[in-house]
Amino acid sequence: TAPLTDPRPRACLQRPANALKEMLENSLDAGATQIIVTVKDGGKALLQIQDNGHGIRKEDLPVLCERHTTSKLRSFEDLEGIQTLGFRGEALASISHVANLTVTTMTAGQPHGWRVAYSDGIMDLAGPKPAAANRGTLISVECLFANIPLRRKALKSAAEENRCLLEIMGAYAVYKAGVSMTCKRQGEARSDLHTLAGASRLDNIRAVFGAAVSKHVLPLELTCGDGAAGAGPGEAADAGVHCEVEGYISNADFSGKRTQMVLFINGRSVECTALKRALEATYAAVLPKAAKPFIFLEVRLPGSHVDVNVHPTKKEVGFLHQEELIEAVRAAVEEKLLSTNS
Ligand code: ADP
Ligand code: MG
Repeated sequence: TAPLTDPRPRACLQRPANALKEMLENSLDAGATQIIVTVKDGGKALLQIQDNGHGIRKEDLPVLCERHTTSKLRSFEDLEGIQTLGFRGEALASISHVANLTVTTMTAGQPHGWRVAYSDGIMDLAGPKPAAANRGTLISVECLFANIPLRRKALKSAAEENRCLLEIMGAYAVYKAGVSMTCKRQGEARSDLHTLAGASRLDNIRAVFGAAVSKHVLPLELTCGDGAAGAGPGEAADAGVHCEVEGYISNADFSGKRTQMVLFINGRSVECTALKRALEATYAAVLPKAAKPFIFLEVRLPGSHVDVNVHPTKKEVGFLHQEELIEAVRAAVEEKLLSTNS
């Protein structure tokens, strides 16, 4: 069998939002139902994430930030069909190299939690110290890029970085509706983003993107590939593609300042420029007055069909049968728009 050497590029952190995405995925992998993010100076001074997930065992803390330490990968074959969001144990390692990282965590049934600091992937010499905690994990990232002046300088204003943080959190809030998510600036009572436990995706589209959007969306569902025998409406009968798509797309009464597209493929927030362009073109052709749509799509593909590493920040993805898939989704959107807006 192949050695467990991961040929993929390292996660690349360019801004606080990249770190937040990784940490959100970790919290969700840990089964959190509540996630609270606190930021200071757009995440440049502080980015803190607290969850009520299963926590981290004390014995796992010493190696937590070592590259390729993951509790999620059982074999090399798992790389082919990644089930959880994280899969190569490098996010915390990357963060610990460019920031002060502190972890406070408690697993179920423990009398107290543990608190420990890391730098350069290595645990503080003093080791974990007992700490008051609730079940779950609190991770603080302070002084991001203090040791890389060039990257620090490349960061935008606090307001702009905060906007990026809210954009990624808003995407996960809709995708993982039901999990309560809050994002606030340190020292301020009002939150910038807040969703409720048990809320629906439509509730959270309203909470995150506003009622002007949520009032004007249509649900979209489509299955293509296997099982799509005799391809009915919204189904593509291509043997090569297999996917399930679920989402909400804006109707004829909505046009924004720019296209807003939120895309999840197999549980990860990603960008796919080709799909976005195809959908924009369809809106422009079918609904010229609503040419700046809102689109939320969750796509589920067989894990082996996704290449998460087209771009080192893992945002832009590639997948097998990409053209057919994009065309299937585009055609379903077009059909939905034609059938409901005529
Ligand atoms: P990966 O997610 O790829 O495994 P990370 O560097 O993101 O790698 O995290 C390393 C490990 O730390 C995870 O595998 C998980 O065991 C643990 N971990 C990180 N964040 C949390 C969290 N919020 N709750 C529980 N465990 C966590
Ligand atoms: Mg991870």
